[in-house]
Amino acid sequence: MDGAFDDLLSANKTFAETFALRGFDGVAHAGVAVVTCMDSRIDPLRMLGLQPGDAKIFRNPGGHVTEQALEALVLGTHLLNVERVLVIPHTRCAMTTTQEELRARVSEAAGQDASWQTFGVVTDQRAALQDDVRKVRTHPLIPQSVQVGGFIYDVDTGLLEQVL
Ligand SMILES: [Zn+2]
Repeated sequence: MDGAFDDLLSANKTFAETFALRGFDGVAHAGVAVVTCMDSRIDPLRMLGLQPGDAKIFRNPGGHVTEQALEALVLGTHLLNVERVLVIPHTRCAMTTTQEELRARVSEAAGQDASWQTFGVVTDQRAALQDDVRKVRTHPLIPQSVQVGGFIYDVDTGLLEQVL
């Protein structure tokens, strides 16, 4: 151990001094689940006016509804109080490109061949969002009573646009 995480561990000690979630049950208290991108410009709780404890957050590159995202939503809707699902890709996402382009960029940065790595890219973000929302709405283990919306988050204004 070379101290690479010292600053973060120090911050964590400060965090723990005022930690208020002891004994918390871990359900989504606002009944919300969010599928969104890993992008550091996105603060999923704050952008929706939520607090820790309010929502289940599932993130990946692009904010796609993958098999793992569906797994999370099945658990969320049946066991963790989720009643509303927001799928939220965003503007200027690095995943809105082609497989070839992203493979070329990673290969260059890595200094080695990355052509075997698959990335969850999209060329038409709105079409992909419609597809992703449909996957949630039609999943046999996600109740019809669950509200599912598709949104695009604008990283330059902080605003959400509801697409469907
Ligand atoms: Zn992104």
